[in-house]
Parts: sequence; C-alpha cells; structure tokens
Amino acid sequence: MVVQTYDDLTRAIADVLDFDGRPRPITQSLLSRRHLYFLGFGSVARPMAQRALDCGVLDVTLADPKRYAEKSIVSQCEPSEVGRLKVEVGRECMTARGARVTIHPADLYDVPDGAVHANTTLIVSADNRRADVGANRLAVRMRALLLKVNVEPMYGMVSVRAFDFRRPSPVCVECAFSAETYSRQTHPKSCDGTGERSTGSPRILSQAAAELGVLALTETLDESRSARWLSHELLFSLETGTATWSELTPNRSCRCDHGESWPAMQRLASGPESISLAELARSAGIVVGQATHARFCRQVALQNRCEHCHHEVYGPRWLAVLDAATGDCPICGNHLRAVPFYVHGELPLDALNGVLEQPLAAWGVAPAAVIELTGATGRQAFAVGSDRVRPGTVPFFAGTMRSMVARTGLSPSPCEGAAL
Ligand SMILES: [Zn+2]
Ligand SMILES: [Zn+2]
Repeated sequence: MVVQTYDDLTRAIADVLDFDGRPRPITQSLLSRRHLYFLGFGSVARPMAQRALDCGVLDVTLADPKRYAEKSIVSQCEPSEVGRLKVEVGRECMTARGARVTIHPADLYDVPDGAVHANTTLIVSADNRRADVGANRLAVRMRALLLKVNVEPMYGMVSVRAFDFRRPSPVCVECAFSAETYSRQTHPKSCDGTGERSTGSPRILSQAAAELGVLALTETLDESRSARWLSHELLFSLETGTATWSELTPNRSCRCDHGESWPAMQRLASGPESISLAELARSAGIVVGQATHARFCRQVALQNRCEHCHHEVYGPRWLAVLDAATGDCPICGNHLRAVPFYVHGELPLDALNGVLEQPLAAWGVAPAAVIELTGATGRQAFAVGSDRVRPGTVPFFAGTMRSMVARTGLSPSPCEGAAL
C-alpha cells in the first residue's frame, strides 16, 4: 500500500507496527515523567514534539540556533514566524499546551551536559554528521536514551534508530560511520553543506517520522516492547507501507568510546551561584592536594588577553563558547579573549587555587555545567543546578495524527529534511 494520506499512515502504523496512536496507560504515566531533549528543532522535531505532548509528555528542552527563513513558510512555519528563533516558537506553542519548555538558542556543542537529566530521552533528527556525533557522544557521556529519526525524501523512507546508554551499549550512532563519513561531516544535500536539496520532502514524510519517533519514544519505555527498538533500526517505506527491522552492527573500531561517561554523576539542585569547587570536593570526600584535578564539560581559560591593547589577565574563566569574551580589560575596557594554549578541559585543582572557595558563577561557570573531581580517594561528577523539580501532571489527551496535522499544519522543508 502506498502511503499518501494521513489515514493511510495511521492504518499502516496500526497494521504493520501494532500501534493505534495511543500509548498504554502505564507508558503514558512514564511519558509524563520523561524529559525530552531535542537536539535540533527542524521539520521532524517540531511535529514530533507536538505528538509527544499528545501522548502525555510535559517536560521538553529544545536546542537549535537557527531562525525560520522565508523558504520555511511552505514547509514548517507560519509567515508570522519568519525571522524568529525556532526554539522560541517551539516554546510558545508547547507552553500554551501546558508543557514546561526550556530553550537553548545555541549549537548543541555549546549547551552544558547537565541539560541532560536523569530521565532524559535525547532526540536528534539532523541532516549533518557533526550533529549526529555531538548527540551520540552527549548521550554516551550522560548515559541517556537516544533516538535518531531521519527521513530520506528521495526514497520516501523514514529511519528510526534507538540506543540505550543507561547501561553499557554494544552499539552507538558512530558504529555505522566510515572514515569517509567523518571527513565529510555535512550531508552533501543539506543546507549546512554546499549543495542544495533538489526536491522537497513530502509533507507526509515528516509526519510519518514524527509519528514513528513518538512510537519509538513510547515503546523504549515499555519493557514488553523495547527489545524491538533498542540497538535496532526501523526502516519504514511510504512507497510500500512496509516496515523493516534490523539489528545494528557493533563496530569494534568505532571512534566513539562507548564507556566514556561521567563517573558517579550527582545532580545538584544548587546552581553555580551558590556552590564552590571546594564545597564540591568536600561533598565528594576529596581532599584538595596533590593529584587532585577537575575535568569540565566545557573549556576553562587560564590566560586572557585584551583584543585591543593586548594586556594579559590571569584567572580561570569558564568558556561557554570558545571565542566568547571572557571579561573586560582593566586597562582600556575592551573585550578580553582566551589565549590559545591556555584553554583546558582538565586542570589540577592547584591551578584553580584563586577561585576554589568562590562560587562557581564568580568565574563564569554556567548553570547545568558538569564538573568531575578526581582525588586519591575517588572520582565524582557533578551536574550543577541540573536537578529539576518534576512538572505537575495534566489530564491525558491522546490526539490523533489528524488533529496534530490540523493544529500544526506542518510539513518539512527541503533544507530541514533529515537524511538517512
Ligand atoms: Zn560505536
Ligand atoms: Zn585593553
């Protein structure tokens, strides 16, 4: 059966995947306590987030630095939304429906690791390999569930892959990557690359990806169903209305270390303005001294130089973004920038002596930053200010796909369509 309409799609998903669009009550209650983190908020993510809300999700984080462009009108936004940040529009639509939405108008590499909570499912539907690598490694570091949802307009295919890094996983997103994949990190037809996509993704394709992504989200939380998703790929063809499952193959020379996660993660309700490195060390039972060091989810600059008069200022500064200004020059008032070679992902605590007792925010540490401390007595990672209060529950509403389409009127743009 060729899938051309939303009715076709609903029927195909019910027949082929045994899902009627409404999660079981027990899964629905799990969804209401789940946090979804969309890494990129394009033409697949937006309808998928709306569908997730239909199924009971209440807590959502969106990271995407892009704004809607003129050409997105046909595909994924209203004329009035052109020029606005995608994540801002997403927040507006979803808070109106009772969800709690956190936004990061930033590249996913620039968001601190603590944006991933203990109950997070990460969702990536990017059309470039750099984002896939970033999402994969973040999920590994934070031991999270990861869904990779993509569309291939040329073949009318949707692909959904699910990875569970809460325990050691034999396979990751990068296991399927060749050396060539890394050297060519943007999809040749993506808007991030030099080429152009010649054909637009049919609207139904993004809707199918959204629906299948939510099905994966739902069933990865359901023990009786999760086995068909985890470490598997579902390929769904709109040309034939059929689904194919395959087990993903582990790659022994994978470039991602599947075991490289933060150790003994502790999530703190206190933010960086109310806790210091010395307090973190004390709470971990680590005595500050020789062989004590800190590792950061971002970089820390030890030397800063004025971009105007070249005056140099010593002092650790947390770098949220590598080329961001790290302060003001005390001589001329212009911006200070981190000096190359004095930027570190890991430092002995001795090097941070000057700020040990100061609140983390005093040297720029961002909320949701992750800092790992290692001493003679052990290792412990802290996510600072990442322990969130659960949102309240709202009555469950299982919308149909048709109602979602009617509400959102969404379809993918050629540029936003994520490739397989
Ligand atoms: Zn791998
Ligand atoms: Zn200066």
